Amino acid sequence: MPKMTVPLLDLRRQYQTFKSDLLPALERVCDSQMFILGPEVTRLEVATAAYCHSEHGIGVSSGTDALLLALMGLDIGPGDAVITSPYTFFATGGTIARTGARPIYLDIDPVTFNLCPVLLARYLAESCEAREDGLYDQRSGTRLRAIMPVHLYGQMADMDPILALATRYGLAVVEDAAQAIGAEYRGRRAGSLGDIGCFSFFPTKNLGAFGDAGLVTARDAVLAERLRILRVHGGKPKYYHALIGGNFRIDELQAAVLNVKLPLLESWTEGRRRNAQIYDAAFTQGGLDTTIGLPVALNGRRHIYNQYVIRAPERDRLRAFLAEQGIGTEIYYPVSLHEQTCFAYLGHATGDYPESERASAETLALPIFAELELAELEYVVDAIRRFYA
Ligand SMILES: *Cc1c(COP(=O)(O)O)cnc(C)c1O
Repeated sequence: MPKMTVPLLDLRRQYQTFKSDLLPALERVCDSQMFILGPEVTRLEVATAAYCHSEHGIGVSSGTDALLLALMGLDIGPGDAVITSPYTFFATGGTIARTGARPIYLDIDPVTFNLCPVLLARYLAESCEAREDGLYDQRSGTRLRAIMPVHLYGQMADMDPILALATRYGLAVVEDAAQAIGAEYRGRRAGSLGDIGCFSFFPTKNLGAFGDAGLVTARDAVLAERLRILRVHGGKPKYYHALIGGNFRIDELQAAVLNVKLPLLESWTEGRRRNAQIYDAAFTQGGLDTTIGLPVALNGRRHIYNQYVIRAPERDRLRAFLAEQGIGTEIYYPVSLHEQTCFAYLGHATGDYPESERASAETLALPIFAELELAELEYVVDAIRRFYA
């Protein structure tokens, strides 16, 4: 095969397909000179909540701020604890810590890379104690308040047992759905199952803005109203503060971009799913599926492939070889949160979360964006075949 260049993501190709609708939309915002929380934001909130099968949508400044706002909305802070998995983007654990709460990490299910419900059940039964005012983590003495499952790479965590445990132990559920807009679990969409769903519109997500933006979904009207107030410093009416919030606002310009792109999201997601099928079939046909671990899309779930992540023996050498062949890849994530220097105070050691650590050493994300051409997908598969030959 002649040498090609296949980037991990090329947003310029996507841009060409909606540019003619986008520029007039931006011009409308410029002409209005209304930049903050205007009609574009309201439209985006209604349309995105509907797309996510949720009741309320609240546009925010980023996916990170969506997580932070969700935790603040649940009044989580010092003395509290929130359960999540350590194999995720930093913001998942970072926002928990920023509220003053303690992140409680539990290992992932090696098939989906998501929070393992068996370990969750075991932890709640064996490492916690019920007191008058709630459930406490025995080791740290902090009070458990919420579970934050991450729907990593675009496939949802095993939500039924997680929700059942949350109900049984009186915990809130905040979905980190930053990588999972439009993903489904038994017909229900990401962000509609927990108390709050958190989405990111970072440019590399399936629905990307032209900068930072995010959104939270909520089922409960009272909680949604509280989140709206916290988004603007906690003031309601303006300049009267019963709550301490922050500036978590989304811009009209970003909302206008997203309003143009949202109607196209399904076609892009279908493109990613089609490309994943092409990879799956090609790797299997070439007998490579016994050498590398292919991503597993479980029955009853709709995987939206924000990333197509394989497990690769000699991962770092493969990555360097693919780079030489002009193929872009990425490692999501090379260091689990429990091994990050900033979380040393939690007292974890290497070996505490073996599946997360193994994933950090083995995984590699391949180009999967919708506009990839068949020849490019074949080139990637062929390069991997040559590496292991
Ligand atoms: C992208 C991402 C976030 C943070 O979103 P930003 O918009 O970049 O702040 C949080 N969690 C996960 C799992 C993500 O992938």
